[in-house]
Amino acid sequence: MHAEELRQHGIDQASLPSAPGTEPTRQEFPTRLNTLPPAPCARCSEAGITTNVTDAGDGPRWLDLCWPHARELAHPYHRPTTIEEILDAILEVAKEVAAEMGLSVPLRIWTDEEG
Ligand SMILES: [Zn+2]
Repeated sequence: MHAEELRQHGIDQASLPSAPGTEPTRQEFPTRLNTLPPAPCARCSEAGITTNVTDAGDGPRWLDLCWPHARELAHPYHRPTTIEEILDAILEVAKEVAAEMGLSVPLRIWTDEEG
């Protein structure tokens, strides 16, 4: 994960604890997760229940996260908020389905009598 991505999620790369390497051994992950008290989530300081290693250019660092923040980082989701964004999302899915079915149907969503 790049430093900018971390910053977008409110995480300062420099504040993360140093990790032993970019590829910790199979023993190092469970050891990290079983540490008491648990390593704090990099976002909210609640108990971290997942861990990973990230290197944004200044060396490998542990990225400990609570479950909600681990999910947020794993599946960043921009929720459409305007009618236009919602219609664009529906149109995009319809185009993907048409492409998967091998159809070349021009798709358009009409929003009012003027189109
Ligand atoms: Zn958290």
